[in-house]
Amino acid sequence: MATGEKNYSMMHVDTFARLGEASRIETGEELGLTGCAVSVNSLPAGQVSAFLHTHKLNEEVYIVINGDGTFKVDGDEFPIKAGSLVRVAPAGQRGINAGDAGLVYLCIQAQEGSLTQHSHADGVIVEG
Ligand code: ZN
Repeated sequence: MATGEKNYSMMHVDTFARLGEASRIETGEELGLTGCAVSVNSLPAGQVSAFLHTHKLNEEVYIVINGDGTFKVDGDEFPIKAGSLVRVAPAGQRGINAGDAGLVYLCIQAQEGSLTQHSHADGVIVEG
């Protein structure tokens, strides 16, 4: 849990190097996230993700780090691979399947519509 004493928190996962193993790491508690949720996920070859699901409020962005597979949303199915990013609205029924090499991906979720300004408008340049 973030202590609030510093303006940052840090953790390290070795998931990126473990292509083909099953794991799911939620980072929110350790990093003290307050505005989004980030999970680091790895699926073995051919494995279907935990469940087809929707969300009540949150949109999700899936970022494929390693491997390949297929993504399903509302009956559409398309290939994904390292470098693919998929945004899904809360109502989208989504699922992810690992390909022959397995799949490592990040999932970031935040409440749809909560971002009121983009980073170029929010960033403040400081000296130092
Ligand atoms: Zn989800």
